[in-house]
Amino acid sequence: MYVLVIVLTAAIIVYLLHIMKRLRKNDYSALANRMARRSRSTLKVLKPCPLCRTMLSRGERVHTVVFSRQPVAADGSTRPPKIKESMVHMFGCPYCRPPEGNQSRTCPVCKREIRGDGYAIARMFERNGRKHVHVLGCTECRHGR
Ligand SMILES: [Zn+2]
Ligand SMILES: [Zn+2]
Repeated sequence: MYVLVIVLTAAIIVYLLHIMKRLRKNDYSALANRMARRSRSTLKVLKPCPLCRTMLSRGERVHTVVFSRQPVAADGSTRPPKIKESMVHMFGCPYCRPPEGNQSRTCPVCKREIRGDGYAIARMFERNGRKHVHVLGCTECRHGR
């Protein structure tokens, strides 16, 4: 009888330890997920300016002028396309956009400095509300194109 009690107690202890281990593991993975989510959203907020590489936080935007191109169907009606494509002129962020910005703007394509009256030219793709901007060049390297 005495031996049985010891065995039972041992079994309960092993069982409890097992539960604790599982709980702790779940806690860790939940915490890890939370931290991953947090760092992901931080990454979203901190984006470098494509022209001067200054890390921008929320609210600091790169000044752009978007030229939307709505494709026109054969019957003349405009239908919203699945992937919206637009041309973008990028003037820079608050740190590099002339005349206030004093950081020099470098074209990501030709690596030359963009002059005060110049800008970067990009193509923007929009799909399901997600924007993707691809820089094509600047007023220096895309001249006449
Ligand atoms: Zn900038
Ligand atoms: Zn360029």
